[in-house]
Amino acid sequence: MLKVDSDVCIGCGACEESCPFGAISVEDGCAVVGDNCTLCGTCVDACEVEALHIEEAERTNGVELDAWSGIWIFIECRHGVIADISFELLGIGRKLADDRGVALCAVLLGNDLQGSCDSLIAGGADIVYLVEDPALGQYREDVYGRILEHLIREHKPEVVLAGATAIGRSVIPQVATALGAGLTADCTQLAIRKEDGMLLQTRPAFGGNIMATIECPRSRPQMATVRAKVMAPLDPDTSRKGEIMPVIMKQELFDSAIEVLETIQAETDQVNIQEVEVLVAGGRGLESEKGFAIIRELADELNGALAASRAAVDAGWVSYPHQVGQTGKTVCPKLYIACGISGAIQHAVGMQSAKTIVAINRDEEAPIFDIATYGVVGDLFEVVPALTEKIREARK
Ligand SMILES: Cc1cc2nc3c(=O)[nH]c(=O)nc-3n(C[C@H](O)[C@H](O)[C@H](O)COP(=O)(O)OP(=O)(O)OC[C@H]3O[C@@H](n4cnc5c(N)ncnc54)[C@H](O)[C@@H]3O)c2cc1C
Repeated sequence: MLKVDSDVCIGCGACEESCPFGAISVEDGCAVVGDNCTLCGTCVDACEVEALHIEEAERTNGVELDAWSGIWIFIECRHGVIADISFELLGIGRKLADDRGVALCAVLLGNDLQGSCDSLIAGGADIVYLVEDPALGQYREDVYGRILEHLIREHKPEVVLAGATAIGRSVIPQVATALGAGLTADCTQLAIRKEDGMLLQTRPAFGGNIMATIECPRSRPQMATVRAKVMAPLDPDTSRKGEIMPVIMKQELFDSAIEVLETIQAETDQVNIQEVEVLVAGGRGLESEKGFAIIRELADELNGALAASRAAVDAGWVSYPHQVGQTGKTVCPKLYIACGISGAIQHAVGMQSAKTIVAINRDEEAPIFDIATYGVVGDLFEVVPALTEKIREARK
């Protein structure tokens, strides 16, 4: 609870003005705290006469913050192969662990994965907790969540990171809920405050218009999911030494309400737009599914792949795995050709780090030109086929 010292309070109203939740008001010359106070502490900082304070035990909900130590990465395996995102997380995890002076641990759940542990150590891990069981051969969120929760309760890491992928987004929220921990989704930047181990979790907010840095000061572990392709993996160092710790779990933890009948790799999964060097992206300006045929030809000519804005995906012209942006994928190809895409901030955050951006748009005021390396103002139905033809001729 936020405490008001009525002997000190001068009723100036600075707390009322500063409170983002409208949870404090001045009545009869003294601050009064409402039920919707979140203990964010903004009013405490705003009070010049120091009449407000939050008791430390309440601030941390009774959690002993110092009892938690170490940086953990939830390793993601797809079809028996460790996903790239896990190495990206080990890259940023290594930095956080070094800054804080603690161990970096990888948590690997699955079946028959012993051979993968060395690559995690080469990627930066000091310790690999390995839980193997035939029941973990197929991803099932209830079992994976339960095992992870169990391990976290036992070892008390201060930070747990997972990919902002379909698997990470399904397993981590339930673990955070079970542990009563904070969780920041879709981070694009992470840092740690050395003195108190506060994880500074930065992510786009308000539709991508601002970047917000979020702290979880009252609970442990601090949990975050991180977008793919925004953190750099380390160069694998096979001379690194680490420890592999097999963990035996009670059999009842593997019980599941889910039965996986079959796993089918979707055709669209076969081209991962985050892995290719050239992307030709289409937006609402393509007008229809047929419009995509024009840019597909250009993509084929450049040995690239198709990408899209959300408008094109929502219209059903192309499937979701092709979507670039805040609610799609973050890509960083060598060449990104944006055709009929306006360049809304939610799209730009997913592609603006591409090495070369070419924008084709008939509106010379379109924001995409602000981030483009080269811009063509014109009708894409004329420009794109002409460009494809020129490239075809040049390649001959
Ligand atoms: C919370 C939230 C999350 C979002 N997430 C994403 C996301 O992940 N990815 C994403 O892309 N969007 C996202 N959006 C939507 C985003 O705000 C835009 O609405 C969307 O990116 C617009 O797509 P577009 O550029 O294809 O369409 P438009 O903005 O309609 O632009 C179409 C462009 O095509 C040009 N054009 C039209 N005809 C031609 C032609 N013949 N030749 C040349 N140019 C032509 C026009 O000049 C225009 O600039 C999100 C929005 C919100 C609120």
